[in-house]
Order: sequence, then structure tokens, then C-alpha cells
Amino acid sequence: PYDVLVVGGGPAGASAAIYAARKGIRTGIVAERFGGQVLDTMSIENFISVRQTDGPKFAASLEEHVKEYNIDVMNLQRAKRLEKKEFIELELENGAVLKGKTVILSTGARWRNIGVPGEAEFKNKGVAYCPHCDGPLFAGKDVAVVGGGNSGIEAAIDLANIVNHVTVLEYKAELKADSVLQDRLKSLPNVTVLTNARTHEITGTDKVNGISYIDLQTGDEKHIQLSGVFVQIGLVPNTDWLGGTVDRNKFGEIIIDQRGATNIPGVFAAGDCTNNPYKQIIISMGSGATASLSAFDHLIRSEVP
Ligand code: FAD
Repeated sequence: PYDVLVVGGGPAGASAAIYAARKGIRTGIVAERFGGQVLDTMSIENFISVRQTDGPKFAASLEEHVKEYNIDVMNLQRAKRLEKKEFIELELENGAVLKGKTVILSTGARWRNIGVPGEAEFKNKGVAYCPHCDGPLFAGKDVAVVGGGNSGIEAAIDLANIVNHVTVLEYKAELKADSVLQDRLKSLPNVTVLTNARTHEITGTDKVNGISYIDLQTGDEKHIQLSGVFVQIGLVPNTDWLGGTVDRNKFGEIIIDQRGATNIPGVFAAGDCTNNPYKQIIISMGSGATASLSAFDHLIRSEVP
């Protein structure tokens, strides 16, 4: 068996694997797509100490760093089942079963898409998902936030500090966000809230120039000119494959303690697939390191030879 078997090859998994390999223990990493979400990122400006980079470049250096070490990299492999027996068993989509004395789950998450015309076309060309990451790109411009839940309203409050004007579009009759957030939002002079507004299309030429929505009360289609659309209708963790084996919260996030431990002894988790409140590269890497050090600690205390 592997001493540490990492599932997921994004920033969290890469960090966990390197920390494990540096202990001189047998380490493997299984990834459906090595690099993870950063492969879909244009510009990264908040990975502290690297002033600016882009996603593919960042993913390539993650891989290069992992390959510096004696780590079995199993790319383009999807895990489908986890089971604790004598060791922890991981079954892959291709039928292979890998064993680990410890396992680190770092399968990440994906932003829920609205699925309207223009969304995919203008991704990274005005369509954004992460206000912490891309907010400053829209300084002084007009933007929309799609989604009136907590993450949408938090994004709108955050963006209102940076951009010229924010329009919030919520398709229901009311915002779902906590009232304290709604009160804060209402106090801001440069925010407009549209309820009963169903996003219909994100328009543009080479980049976003507006958003069309249907006013559900009148049935009319309306259009607003703006430069950016932040989609905030949910971040879905890639954890369904775990079924009931590992405790997850109501959002599907793996529940971990401050050491990255799950409810199963020897199984740890890190990054966007967990209940870590903030989903960022730098945070995922930190939690990958934490999970890996905890896995090592578990190994030196356990009796498995
Ligand atoms: P992920 O990056 O999601 O990696 C998950 C890994 O697990 C992948 O390798 C995936 O293929 C694999 N996987 C999933 N399911 C399975 C399975 N069943 N079996 C095997 N492997 C599996 N953050 C910033 O800090 N700065 C930014 O500028 C920034 N910009 C972003 C822009 C966009 C468009 C997006 C989508 C995200 C952005 N983020 C940014 C967020 C950042 O990318 C994530 O927080 C970070 O990648 C999370 O790392 P992770 O390793 O936890 O998960």
C-alpha cells in the first residue's frame, strides 16, 4: 500500500503529495485532471509572492514541482469508491483498486453555471466566478452579480467597493441571503437589486458588453450594458462519489477538523472539497500541507507495519 494516497491533483493535492514525499514515505496521487480548477483560470494575482501568473503556467509548475519527487502520478484517473478495510481502498473508474495506509481527499469543487448563451463563450472575458480573484479587474466598471443567496450578496458588497456599479439579479421574488447582508447591501449607494429577473443571455463581441434578463412579472426582456458578470449560484464539491463513507455537510463538503482529519481514522481531506470557508489557491495549498502532516503523524502513531 501507499503510505499516503492523494486523490485529486489541484493545488491542495499537489501540496499534500509534496509534503508527504519529503518525509521519504511512499506517496501516490490520482487525478482526473492534474492541475484542477487553475487550468481554467486566466490571470492569477493573489498567489502571494508571485505578482502575476496565468492558470496553465501555474498548473505546469505544480506538476513540475511534484515530478521533482518520488511520487507515483496517476493522471486522467477518476476515483469512484472509497472503503476502509485493513487499509483504505480506493477503486478507480478503470477497475483498479489502490490501497493506502492513509488517504488525502482533495477532489476540489466546481462553480455551478447558469447555462445561458454567452456564459461559456465569455468565461475569463468578462464572465467571472470568484470576486476575491477577479474583482480588481473590473475596477471603476459596471458589473452584474447573478444570484441573491449569501455568496451573491457577499460578492455584491465586496465588488461595490471596487467597481463603479453593481446590479444583482435574482430570479426569485426575494433575496435568499441573511438579512444582515441584505441590510448592508441596501446601505450601499452603487448597488441595484433586481428580483424576479431571470438571466437570459450574456452579450458581447470579443468580451462581455451586457446582460439580458427576463422580467418575470411582465415577461419583458431587458438589457443592461456592463463589463462583467459574476456568477454566484453555488460552488459544488466533487464529493458525490464518496456516498455515505465520509461525513459531509448539507452542501456536500467533507467535514474536517483543524488538522484536516475526517470522521474515518487515516482519511484526511483538504482544499475546496472540504468545509474550509474560503476557496482559494493559497488556502487549498495550506490545507493540503496540513492534511499531509496529519497523515504522517497518524502513520507514526499507528501500528500498521
Ligand atoms: P481543484 O483545483 O478543484 O482540484 C481538484 C482535483 O481533483 C483536480 O485534479 C480534479 O481533476 C480532481 N478530481 C475531482 N474529482 C476526482 C475524482 N473522483 N477522482 C480523481 N480526481 C478527481 N483562486 C485563487 O486563489 N486565485 C485566483 O485567481 C483564482 N481564480 C479562479 C478562477 C476560476 C475561473 C476558477 C474556477 C477558480 C479560481 N480560483 C482562484 C479558485 C482556485 O482555483 C481553487 O480554490 C483551487 O484550485 C482549489 O484547489 P483544490 O486542489 O482544492 O481543488
